Amino acid sequence: MSEVFKGSFTQQEPIPEDAIEAAVAVMRHGRLHRYNTTGDEVAEAALLEQEFAALVGTKYCLSVASGGYAIATALRAVGVGHGDRVLSNAFTLAPVPGAIAAVGAVPLLVEVTEKLVIDLDDLANKLGQAKVLLLSHMRGHICDMDALMALCDAAGVTVIEDCAHTMGAAWRGTPSGRHGAVGCYSCQTYKHVNAGEGGLLVTDDPEIAARAILLSGSYMMYERHLASPPQAAFEKIKYQTPNISGRMDNLRAALLRPQLRGLPDQVGRWNERYHALEFGVRNTPGLSVIERNQNERFVGSSFQFLLRGWTAAKVNDVLSRCKRRGVELKWFGAAEPSGFTSKYDSWRYIDITPLPKSDEILAGLVDMRVPLTFSVDECSLIARIIREEVSSVFQQN
Ligand SMILES: *Cc1c(COP(=O)(O)O)cnc(C)c1O
Repeated sequence: MSEVFKGSFTQQEPIPEDAIEAAVAVMRHGRLHRYNTTGDEVAEAALLEQEFAALVGTKYCLSVASGGYAIATALRAVGVGHGDRVLSNAFTLAPVPGAIAAVGAVPLLVEVTEKLVIDLDDLANKLGQAKVLLLSHMRGHICDMDALMALCDAAGVTVIEDCAHTMGAAWRGTPSGRHGAVGCYSCQTYKHVNAGEGGLLVTDDPEIAARAILLSGSYMMYERHLASPPQAAFEKIKYQTPNISGRMDNLRAALLRPQLRGLPDQVGRWNERYHALEFGVRNTPGLSVIERNQNERFVGSSFQFLLRGWTAAKVNDVLSRCKRRGVELKWFGAAEPSGFTSKYDSWRYIDITPLPKSDEILAGLVDMRVPLTFSVDECSLIARIIREEVSSVFQQN
């Protein structure tokens, strides 16, 4: 009898007790809106921003309603407007081109490499066509950030980082989100901290920070922020910046503050699971693991491998065999978007130029979530199942 896995790929851990207590305290006093404070009370949202700024070593931080909102706000705050082109990864998820579309701008997609990072050669060729790069560290894979920043700096291209999958990660010791002008994070259930929904934006630029705070809907209460620029930064722009409400509330901020303190431990736990998966499937015939760069400190909250050159029928066969044994894999080569997975050619509101290199990679790219509710042993079991099924399908001819 072959082994079967019984866990759920969508079940995250419960909210920690201290976070539940903090959230209940907010509900008991009822002041959920971030600017609803009494006396010298400091709002949970303002404290969250201060603590996240300290965690990633940034001057300014703003908490908002979602990761996608953080990205759209960053784009607006650096001056992206209607009809502007914004460079971004072809290999990312729908909220990334969606945030570009939200500001009326036009995504210009860049190829992905077999390491699942942005292709720096293709980027270099396209840098002349845009003023901004929205760099998505998709599935936690971080490109050579030194090389990328050198290219973008030389071309005068502003970099915004989408760190939805890299909260807690770093490149050569610098936290992800701290290389570009702005870093954006998601606090949604499937990411690294869980408030249901939520986002964070960080920057060292006082003007970008002031614009982002005003954009998020500060009702001119910006003096109640802690991780914010001096008042003078607001004076210059406060009549010119629209209020596009998307604030975080104190309830979510209360849920997040204790989770941020626990993040380094969680990263360690994710990586134990990631390494068990990687170790278990490495050297399977027909399968390539994604080799990680030693400068990358990543968060193994998801796991990918490549079945390069496989037919769609064979990849589908692997997926359904694994599914029968309880292992839910996603495939980036599918013709139709499904679940959270979508390929760039399904974003049909964009004028898409085919990306042959990305097509080849995505056709073989298999993806899996790694919730912390899985034990390390369960990850080894999942790897055994993948290895057996990939091997059997690979051997068929
Ligand atoms: C989840 C996600 C986002 C946006 O986050 P939301 O909080 O869901 O808006 C952005 N980029 C990537 C790659 C994501 O996976």
